[in-house]
Amino acid sequence: MLERKVLVTGGAGFLGSHLCDRLVERGQDVLCIDNFFTGSKRNVEQLLGRAKFELMRHDVTFPLYVEVDRIFNLACPASPIHYQLDPVQTTKTTVHGAINMLGLAKRVKARILQASTSEVYGDPEVHPQVESYWGRVNCIGPRSCYDEGKRCAETLFFDYQRQHALDIKVIRIFNTYGPRMHPNDGRVVSNFIVQALRGEDVTIYGDGSQTRSFCYVDDLIDGMLRMMDSETGFFGPVNIGNPGEFTMRELAEHVLSLTGSKSRLVNRPLPADDPKQRKPDISLAGSKLDWKPKVPLVDGLKETIAYFKRLLAS
Ligand code: NAD
Ligand code: UDP
Repeated sequence: MLERKVLVTGGAGFLGSHLCDRLVERGQDVLCIDNFFTGSKRNVEQLLGRAKFELMRHDVTFPLYVEVDRIFNLACPASPIHYQLDPVQTTKTTVHGAINMLGLAKRVKARILQASTSEVYGDPEVHPQVESYWGRVNCIGPRSCYDEGKRCAETLFFDYQRQHALDIKVIRIFNTYGPRMHPNDGRVVSNFIVQALRGEDVTIYGDGSQTRSFCYVDDLIDGMLRMMDSETGFFGPVNIGNPGEFTMRELAEHVLSLTGSKSRLVNRPLPADDPKQRKPDISLAGSKLDWKPKVPLVDGLKETIAYFKRLLAS
């Protein structure tokens, strides 16, 4: 039986808006909350006016009193440019936000899922990354507000589980892309596509040999929903991502060929603490959730390019 009411924090963001679409599609009542720091009403405009959907402006660093059965905690800026704009607020969002949402889950006895991140592995020495790897994270660098905030949020989730028997679910999301990414958030897929479509230089940071593994948004949301619906007592953390690994130079070349752009590839300095490699081991998601990604990079890039073409034209 589908639950009465589902809360999505950060629901007007890139991933949150796709999640709200899927939840409403499958007949659930959705309460979407967002402070619109990086998200926008435009991402959920297709849902406004639907009886099953409610949008509320709220900042998760403040307590929230609502009655819900399930909570997806996604509120947090995800791109390095945005989370580094106000790093203290980023830590507050990840840590105070987690405490507030866990407190809510405890009061109303809701199942709660945390959108954690591959950043908990930092710049990893173990490749591909398995959930049992503890990571290599700098605690005083420019990425630390996000990485350590997300690590602390995981700690809180597991402490609430042990101390208060909360029904928790933790997923570690690897780089995800697709329509509704913010065009100026500096993430590599949106940057390369927007630059290519505008005929501007495509900026490769460092020598472009660093790797990432890119998951298309539909696959990611499917994995997230499977985790929320998984057997009671399976808490995770579980990696959700696409193990296809690409260097940033390879990604840039794919984008140039798919857009037919004449943009030049240029090198720019590598940001501090930029992880050299990242690729999820998804065996756990396979065995526990019967999940694996289906969309190859080229197909996902085509959809994303089509979205940015429409966005830039408007
Ligand atoms: P996003 O920036 O598009 O979405 C985040 C949403 O949270 C935005 O709508 C923003 O306005 C909202 N928000 C930020 N601070 C808030 C606050 N204090 N109170 C209420 N709302 C707040 O990012 P996204 O890519 O959709 O990421 C969603 C979640 O998934 C984040 O928690 C992120 O850490 C996690 N994640 C994403 C990726 C990825 O590749 N997209 C990878 C790993 C983890
Ligand atoms: N990157 C790049 N050019 C850009 C933006 C990013 O080469 O215009 C690189 C960045 O240095 C990193 C990778 O792409 O090595 C992924 O960056 P992103 O910010 O998308 O995600 P994250 O580093 O958080 O995985």
